[in-house]
Amino acid sequence: MTNDVLLAKIARLEAQARPLEPDAMERLALREPVMTYAETFLEALDKLPAYHDTEDLGSGIRSSRIVEDPGSIEAALDLLREHVDGPGLNPASAGHLAYIPGGGIYTSALGDYLADVTNRYAGVFFGGPGAVRLENLVIDWVRRVVGYPESALGNHASCGSVANLIALATARDAAGLAGKDYHRAVLYLTSQTHHCITKSLRFLGLGECVIRHVALDDRYRMRPDQLAKQIRDDRSSGLKPWVVVASAGSTDVGAIDPLDRIADVTTQEGLWFHVDGAYGGFFALTTEGADLLDGMERSDSLVVDPHKTMFLPYGSSVLLVRDGKHLAATHRHQANYMQDATPARDEPSPADLSPELTRPFRALRLWLPLMVHGVGPFRAALEEKMLLTRYFHEEVARLGFWVGPPPELSVSVFRYVPERYRASDSEIDWDEVNAYNARLVREIRRDGRVFLSSTTLEGRFTIRLAAVVHRTHLDTIRTTLAVLEEMTNRLGR
Ligand SMILES: *Cc1c(COP(=O)(O)O)cnc(C)c1O
Repeated sequence: MTNDVLLAKIARLEAQARPLEPDAMERLALREPVMTYAETFLEALDKLPAYHDTEDLGSGIRSSRIVEDPGSIEAALDLLREHVDGPGLNPASAGHLAYIPGGGIYTSALGDYLADVTNRYAGVFFGGPGAVRLENLVIDWVRRVVGYPESALGNHASCGSVANLIALATARDAAGLAGKDYHRAVLYLTSQTHHCITKSLRFLGLGECVIRHVALDDRYRMRPDQLAKQIRDDRSSGLKPWVVVASAGSTDVGAIDPLDRIADVTTQEGLWFHVDGAYGGFFALTTEGADLLDGMERSDSLVVDPHKTMFLPYGSSVLLVRDGKHLAATHRHQANYMQDATPARDEPSPADLSPELTRPFRALRLWLPLMVHGVGPFRAALEEKMLLTRYFHEEVARLGFWVGPPPELSVSVFRYVPERYRASDSEIDWDEVNAYNARLVREIRRDGRVFLSSTTLEGRFTIRLAAVVHRTHLDTIRTTLAVLEEMTNRLGR
């Protein structure tokens, strides 16, 4: 290729690639339909079902094609409206009371928009000093919420599962575990621990370590006396007790393990103490929550999910390690192409504290809402969810439902036992009762006004209500009670 031919070709390619950088008018033409779409969605939200069963389950999206030639933004939005934002559960809905929901606050979406447009690099201090400082400022805010000392370091991860994974990798290294120890290393959890913990172990190559399920008390919380006993037994049989994973708000029932008493045990025994507060940790913002979470600040590592209890859109978890040097040790690295990146003494770089190198500027999606709203509304919303759940729990019992232990945070568990499945007072046909409750959950989902999920407790089908969406208020709880009454009337009381 001569130079002229080369230059002509470059010019042609530049012209062809030009649409990737729309000008101001073109940006407006793209932005307006998107903003209209978002506004229409938000304005219709209280009329949209929390769960929408459709015939084709979104399969129509598969007949749209990705092709060489351009298409219109309107056509793309039509596809989203029809096939994506319709079927399945609506995580933005006030009536989403299943699993551990999140909601997705608007100011966080605006933070994401800005983070994406500026595409600030928040991985390494040298590249984005202001962005890295902002990441650290938000970590520091979370650190104070959970009561960790200044020695702590942390990271904005994509989700609780990944944050827990990083914590366990750090705990592994801090304990000096090497491959030859894995089959003797013991991790302590309960039957209520989130499954991402055991999933992480496999991922870390620790699949062969010994897992002990510590006995629960009658409120589904770890029994510290049983934990201490198990550790002693394991030690005397030549095993290597390694880490205790406590739940600060379990997914199933929202139970908080007795953190302070567990910390007594781990301190005495010299074990790493990890707290999975993905769901419950931010309740520390409330007065009552802070009491319930007492002892959390004594853990060695901790996970909280802003995309749950700070109501952020999906994509935000925070991991904290009490003695930050352990987190840094697990992630130390060196690369020739990073030689320009001089570290800042006082501002750790996220890339040095996480497996990620290039990552979204995640702190912005939490920082912007905090700056705009202040902490107050979050505190109030969390306390409101606790009280709503308490109210629901009492009222659903009044409707004749069996209810689990009084909710500590914002999860209530219950089931219905119709008279006809009791041959006598003592004899309940659990197969029938389980089937009845499964049908009840299916009917509620088909109805769509609210969306509840289920779990199994002591082998029995159990319905859960988790109030975690910021849009869930008293009216939604009243609707839920009305739906439950209506459905049990229909299925037979
Ligand atoms: C949701 C949850 C997780 C997992 O977090 P993701 O953000 O969904 O990956 C872990 N532990 C608990 C207690 C949870 O509620």
